[in-house]
Amino acid sequence: MERTRQLSLENPRDTIEIIKKYQFVFQKKFGQNFLIDSHVLDKIIHAAAITKEDCVLEIGPGIGVMTQRLAEKARHVVAVEIDKNLIPILEETLQGYDNVTVINQDILKVDINEMTQVYNNGCPVKVVANLPYYITTPIIMGLFERRVPVDNITVMVQKEVADRMQVGPGSKDYGALSLAVQYYAEPYIVANVPPNCFIPRPNVGSAVIRLTRHRNPAVETKSPELMFRLIRASFNQRRKTLQNGLNNSPELSYSKETIARAIESLGVPPSVRGEALTLQQFAQLADWLVCHGE
Ligand code: SAM
Repeated sequence: MERTRQLSLENPRDTIEIIKKYQFVFQKKFGQNFLIDSHVLDKIIHAAAITKEDCVLEIGPGIGVMTQRLAEKARHVVAVEIDKNLIPILEETLQGYDNVTVINQDILKVDINEMTQVYNNGCPVKVVANLPYYITTPIIMGLFERRVPVDNITVMVQKEVADRMQVGPGSKDYGALSLAVQYYAEPYIVANVPPNCFIPRPNVGSAVIRLTRHRNPAVETKSPELMFRLIRASFNQRRKTLQNGLNNSPELSYSKETIARAIESLGVPPSVRGEALTLQQFAQLADWLVCHGE
């Protein structure tokens, strides 16, 4: 049966109307910038490649503009929203859909693994969101590190953060986030989105990025945990050489000599900076230290 949309929210007029009706007050602390551009929504929905078999997790549905689109494409949508003042609005904007579950909680406190069990038998879900920018990194890294069954993640993030996720060695944006994201997934920037596509307008540019989860991590290492400690140590002190970054890190306790030999084993000059190393080289460094480090 064809479902009819209750309210089209994909334009400034209807968004303002519903906000006025409920006397909704935007909360800056929740990163509330609502999408009002149907072309951007088209791009997000297309990139997420949702089918009628899919269970989708939406983080921060706001007034439900994207939730409506997702509900039309997916089998089920679970939308987690922290702001209790948005719940009555979502009840109205989503009343025509029987395949949406709205959960009024902080996404950082939700057990998403358990949620995938309940709504998708523990099978991989698709994550789609216009993220609250203040918690982009904990949300994305939480999904990867807690091994949530995820197929792909298609999200709106701050443009600068999307760039950081996508770049490789040699770029000023390359850092711990690039390596962490690329260890778990293949990033692809779908679109750049200017501030006038939102109400209220954010004071930064935005981008839609799709992260397609690798079947297996991008590199093999004997100790991913050590590899990420080495990565954090290298980028904590960006201006320093890799050698100094690793020597000074409170997270590592290798002698200077051991660190020098580990770097030498990569066949790179002793003056190399961490930002010049690939993910593969960080994995090699970790493996050398597992076998030879004392
Ligand atoms: N999806 C809507 C849209 O595109 O118009 C709203 C996007 S807005 C950028 C971010 C949304 O995330 C807001 O609705 C905000 O209240 C919600 N949010 C902020 N922090 C959250 C958290 N910790 N857990 C769940 N939702 C959160």
